[in-house]
Amino acid sequence: MSCANACLSYGLEPVVIEASDHVGGTQRSNFHPNLWMLGHPDETGEEMTRRLAAHFLELAVTLHRGTQIRSVMPAGDGFVLQLATPEREVTEHAHAIVLATGMRPRATPALTALAAGSQRVIIGPLSDAIRDRINNARVLILGGGDNALDHALFLAERGNTVRVCTRARFSGRKPFQTACAARPEIELRDHCIPGRLAVEGDEIVAEWGSTRLRYDWLLVLYGYLPNTEVLAAFADAIRPAVTVSGHIHVDAWQRTSVPGIYAAGDLTDSPQPSVPTAIAQGLAAAKAIERDFQSSGF
Ligand SMILES: Cc1cc2nc3c(=O)[nH]c(=O)nc-3n(C[C@H](O)[C@H](O)[C@H](O)COP(=O)(O)OP(=O)(O)OC[C@H]3O[C@@H](n4cnc5c(N)ncnc54)[C@H](O)[C@@H]3O)c2cc1C
Repeated sequence: MSCANACLSYGLEPVVIEASDHVGGTQRSNFHPNLWMLGHPDETGEEMTRRLAAHFLELAVTLHRGTQIRSVMPAGDGFVLQLATPEREVTEHAHAIVLATGMRPRATPALTALAAGSQRVIIGPLSDAIRDRINNARVLILGGGDNALDHALFLAERGNTVRVCTRARFSGRKPFQTACAARPEIELRDHCIPGRLAVEGDEIVAEWGSTRLRYDWLLVLYGYLPNTEVLAAFADAIRPAVTVSGHIHVDAWQRTSVPGIYAAGDLTDSPQPSVPTAIAQGLAAAKAIERDFQSSGF
């Protein structure tokens, strides 16, 4: 959304392709205040996203929602994209492409299978179930980063007892660690790997050696993977390089390894993924496109 907005100011004609039926991305379901958006204290991610989306939807931008990218091919001085929108197949021609598909929660295949069999096993943060349904319950959280600790605090405030298990040491921000340690409802366990996890009726059974504990909910907050599946639709010759972590490799101008293809936001290996970072990178990508067009005499 940020890149499209900036493209307009450079006289470019942006087309936004969104896989889901809404714009706004990850923050659309964040019920926590956004700590990093200067000037909007106490505004939750949901509120912020509504504000950003309302502005974006007023812009003169072509938006394809609920759309899958079938193929991306080189064509003359640009690219041709075959899209499957909810209504019909669409062909778009572009002189530049900006990838901004974000990240998704990570889990092991065993935990994914467990979640498929029970609504009480939740992979990733920020769901309506976490916000509305987990009250006065026993919760096991797997993970030791900001999300794990932030969710532990959120759930402790709703009458839940929470055990947070991380396989090594806690890596979440110090203020979160201190706040969690001060709450009697929260038990922080490092080097804590359950030997067995199983769903039994409405309960989750977790075993550590001879210790067997029962929980009402299991939250898996293991971090994120970049959404690079879209690259499978790209012809080999124009598939951007990725880093060892699987993120799209970009330079300081958000250029990928392929001329004419840029990337912004969580999909890139940014030191601090956040909304302000993604917004700034979208703006930088638009500037890079304008500059590259000018230097190529386009
Ligand atoms: C629990 C949590 C808390 C956070 N808290 C904060 C916070 O307080 N403050 C803050 O600034 N940041 C926070 N962040 C980080 C912030 O959400 C991200 O950095 C930001 O959303 C990145 O924006 P993005 O546009 O790169 O990706 P996203 O917001 O993930 O958007 C990606 C978009 O791409 C779409 N998409 C995916 N694949 C495709 C495809 N193949 N084709 C078309 N569209 C596709 C998705 O549907 C989505 O709309 C938090 C993140 C999480 C998970």
